[in-house]
Amino acid sequence: MLTMQVIPRVYQITARYGNIFLIVEEYLTLIDTGLRGSAPGVADFIRSLGRSPKEVNLIILTHNHLDHIGGLAGLRRVTKAKVAAPKRDFVIDNGPVPYPAGNFLGRLFKTTAMSPLRRRFLLEAMDIDILLEGGEVFPVLGGLQVVPTPGHTAGSISLYAPQKKLLFVADALNKKHDVLRLPLRTATSNLDDTIASIEKMAKMDVEVICFGHGRPITENAKAKLMRLGEEFKV
Ligand SMILES: [Zn+2]
Repeated sequence: MLTMQVIPRVYQITARYGNIFLIVEEYLTLIDTGLRGSAPGVADFIRSLGRSPKEVNLIILTHNHLDHIGGLAGLRRVTKAKVAAPKRDFVIDNGPVPYPAGNFLGRLFKTTAMSPLRRRFLLEAMDIDILLEGGEVFPVLGGLQVVPTPGHTAGSISLYAPQKKLLFVADALNKKHDVLRLPLRTATSNLDDTIASIEKMAKMDVEVICFGHGRPITENAKAKLMRLGEEFKV
């Protein structure tokens, strides 16, 4: 497991494939949970900072994909956290949503042979304590705003800390060699929404961007967002 400090009090923990973020204040906050099996490593890292996993009182999930939610069950056992996640990835008209992925994963989970796997790999609304609609502000990093950035999934959220000019985008954006890219198309459900979300991000005052996969961008993030936004302007 690889860890790095993004800015003071904000750590990126890379567990096998995906990133988990730990925010260390009076209480601890986690953003996303990685794949199943990530909990022991996260707990060890928290202890290495002289803190206890029991001090984690909030876990925010950015979207309902298994490489972001898989570690939740394990982390629930070692923390006392409430879990917040975007409502649109979990509930439609009071029923469960179809798998909120793109073309490939969406089809895979719709086939009957795969349906028993759904419960194993995906969370349902009952697994979530706080269903987010967008616009909520958590008392984290001086105010952590929930910003709907749909496209990758219908409910995908980004988390914005204006005081730190820090934006957690999870999979709403991708990056290759420090250049921003659209998220992976095979795992993305709506391209028009994705582009609208990027235009929304480009209007924000952002210096640092943290991703669901790969290392953060720590300089000139706003200029990079605007450049990407320009590419798709109609
Ligand atoms: Zn994803």
